[in-house]
Formats: sequence, C-alpha cells, structure tokens
Amino acid sequence: MKIKIICENCNSETELIPETVGKLSYVQRKLRDGNFRMFENEISHDVSSSLYDDFIEKLVVADNKKQVEDLLNREIEDNVNIDSKLESLRIDCRGCGNYIVLTEFD
Ligand SMILES: [Zn+2]
Repeated sequence: MKIKIICENCNSETELIPETVGKLSYVQRKLRDGNFRMFENEISHDVSSSLYDDFIEKLVVADNKKQVEDLLNREIEDNVNIDSKLESLRIDCRGCGNYIVLTEFD
C-alpha cells in the first residue's frame, strides 16, 4: 500500500511507502523531501478522575507542599483517565502554501 500526495497548485508530489518489515513509513522525512509538511492539527482530550480511596487518604495526611507534590508525581497517572483522540492531520505544501486537513478518523 502507498499514499501519494500531490499539490495540484504547484505539482509537488511525494509517495509514502512502507520501508520496514513492519511496513512503517517515515512521514516527516519523505514529506520534507517532497516539499510537504504534516502535523497533528487537532487532538482532543477527555479527562476524568477515578480517585482511589488510599490516594485521597494519603493526600489528606500530607502536611506540606513537597509531600503533596511527590504524591501527585508518583500516583496521579493511576488516578486519572485521559483519553486522547486524533481529530485531524494537516498536510501543507511548502512550495505554495496549499494544504489539506484530514479528519473524521474512527
Ligand atoms: Zn503546492
């Protein structure tokens, strides 16, 4: 499988092709060579807490800023859910400024 990117304004073009056993394609390297740039245009985050009782109890008994900071650094990831979703990718043509925004991923 391959993806061909063509700017209809200035005729720059490049192909993203699989280059490794796992069929990885190195996007930025290939796009740079083809005079394009791709970047994450929008990422949404849904953050919710699911605080464990022992975490709350440790916070309650912490009696200085350093203890709270250490506790948060150690355990916050286990007590918060963050769902991130790529909403759109944008490809810019470096030659003429034309661009496309890819969106509606599942
Ligand atoms: Zn162009």
